[in-house]
Amino acid sequence: MKGKQFETHCIHEGQLEDPIYKGAISPIYMATAYSYEETDRYPRYFNTPNQVGLAQKIAILEGAEEGLIFGSGMAAISTALLAFLKAGDHVVLQNDLYGGTTNLVVEHFNQYGIEYSFATGLYAADFEIEIKENTKVIYIETPSNPLMKIVDLAAIAQLAKKHKLVSMIDSTFASPVNQNPISFGIDIVLHSATKYLGGHSDILAGAVACSAVHMKKVFAVAKGLGGNLSELSTWLLERSIKTLSIRVRQQNENAQALAEYLAAHPAIDAVHYPGLESHPDHALAKKQMHGFTGMMSFEINAAYNRTVFEKALQLIQPVVSLAGVESTITIPAITSHKLLTPEGRAKQGITDQLVRFSVGIEHVEDLKNDLNQALEKTANES
Ligand SMILES: *Cc1c(COP(=O)(O)O)cnc(C)c1O
Repeated sequence: MKGKQFETHCIHEGQLEDPIYKGAISPIYMATAYSYEETDRYPRYFNTPNQVGLAQKIAILEGAEEGLIFGSGMAAISTALLAFLKAGDHVVLQNDLYGGTTNLVVEHFNQYGIEYSFATGLYAADFEIEIKENTKVIYIETPSNPLMKIVDLAAIAQLAKKHKLVSMIDSTFASPVNQNPISFGIDIVLHSATKYLGGHSDILAGAVACSAVHMKKVFAVAKGLGGNLSELSTWLLERSIKTLSIRVRQQNENAQALAEYLAAHPAIDAVHYPGLESHPDHALAKKQMHGFTGMMSFEINAAYNRTVFEKALQLIQPVVSLAGVESTITIPAITSHKLLTPEGRAKQGITDQLVRFSVGIEHVEDLKNDLNQALEKTANES
């Protein structure tokens, strides 16, 4: 399938042939036992026909030599980190990461003898200061959750090369539609496929994309940790990715319009969306992303009651996850960041009035009307 465009790869790359009935889509192979005259084929070796097909699709979408599909985003992230870090090694990480990643590092790396530091800022220099003799990995997440901060991919890749480190990115918020970190020299791309790749809030999965040399190391750990995705979910995820490009482009478009609408609303103090010119890293986002995603967060003015706003929404649903075709909101202070102290949250810029908004593919006017009526009720009742 080389030489085709992204949208075409979404649909056709890695699709399995149906040699018997000539069906138009991939057949599903549910077997957990294969003839030993075959190669060592077994789902936990990530090499069943459906797993191999989907891995190929992810690889081509990220411009990587190889891909590997996992049972969750955290399975992909933990496996990749443990593949390149052993006792005595050190990793430098971005400060504001997905909560599960922070927990893995802070709660468990000590027991493996792995040292870590969090960069205090987002610039390459903030990461470089933390690099030590035994540093092996540099780990970023951009755009970040929930404030949509942007880290310079080319600068981090260059820094990693200078110090001979492996660079990793959690690129979940961007999806391969909006950002392809390997083209900037980043070594390993990680996704929670539960989000944009799945896109329908019904599959938990993860993915790694990187060079064949790096994948050899990831795979060696992966088959021992056993974090493969089930065959049924593998098949479903392949199906979901067929519409990835069209979904995410609509989400980008809706989010841009709604970010502009919210930014102009008197009840809203701030909108964090890289597509707005007011975003501090708008120029950088424009340089390294093809689109600005369907994710944003905004702060409701303290004079307005946030809880009333949440309850007044009729179309937009209050749920924890993100990136589905349906629009959803979550309140970081009481969900993803509730374990931090109020001071800890304030330090990260996460106020009690902050709303994270995952924009879906409903008609944008219906979404605007829902926000508008909820904000009006909020104003009346506060
Ligand atoms: C959800 C998420 C994860 C974790 O993925 P799971 O599929 O829930 O394990 C990791 N990183 C980011 C940015 C996420 O949003």
